[in-house]
Amino acid sequence: MWGLMSDDLKNICVYCGSSAGTEPAFLQQADALGRLLAEKQIGLVYGGAQIGLMGAIADAALAAGGKVTGVMPEFLVRKEVAHQGLTELTVVDSMHERKMAMAELADAFIAMPGGLGTFEELFEVLTWAQLGLHSKPCGLLNVSGYFNDLVRFLDHAVEQGFVSRENRSILHVEANPATLLVRFENHQPPQSDSWPVRDRG
Ligand code: AMP
Repeated sequence: MWGLMSDDLKNICVYCGSSAGTEPAFLQQADALGRLLAEKQIGLVYGGAQIGLMGAIADAALAAGGKVTGVMPEFLVRKEVAHQGLTELTVVDSMHERKMAMAELADAFIAMPGGLGTFEELFEVLTWAQLGLHSKPCGLLNVSGYFNDLVRFLDHAVEQGFVSRENRSILHVEANPATLLVRFENHQPPQSDSWPVRDRG
């Protein structure tokens, strides 16, 4: 199977916190990833908010001349404070429509530090990949070790027989945005139907 060539990475969807978190590194890396995407002429697709890490990554990409598409359901437009300076803001009817639209617009997915919304979005695209519904690269930007316990838990789930090694390998984990993009450029989707073994022996 061919790797995903860099030309194929036209838009990347980033999931991240509607809060900024406590470590200055979270905002710094949101800024770094936003700038990097703009420099590489990769469009940013995200949830459309101007708050927290979401706002920071959008601001950074826009300031560096990048293209930013926000996708937000109507009921969140006020609550999450929609970003007013985006290249495009798509307003949809529901959270389900939002996640579907973001997934369709993107050629790859990155989760940065965030909360429950970020976890849900990441695990949804991972399970869609597990089912073969897409073969787009998925990555975790593990800023300041924020996701260390999650990564350990995923490895535990493999050891305990609930996640196959192939499906675990869908998720690329890196601390540095540029390194993560290189992993994406060399991405090889799992070749086999790799549902976990179900025998009880
Ligand atoms: P959080 O990581 O909780 O700060 O949320 C990050 C983004 O995820 C925000 O845009 C939230 O609106 C969104 N979000 C929150 N809950 C959900 C959910 N159940 N499904 C999908 N997205 C969500």
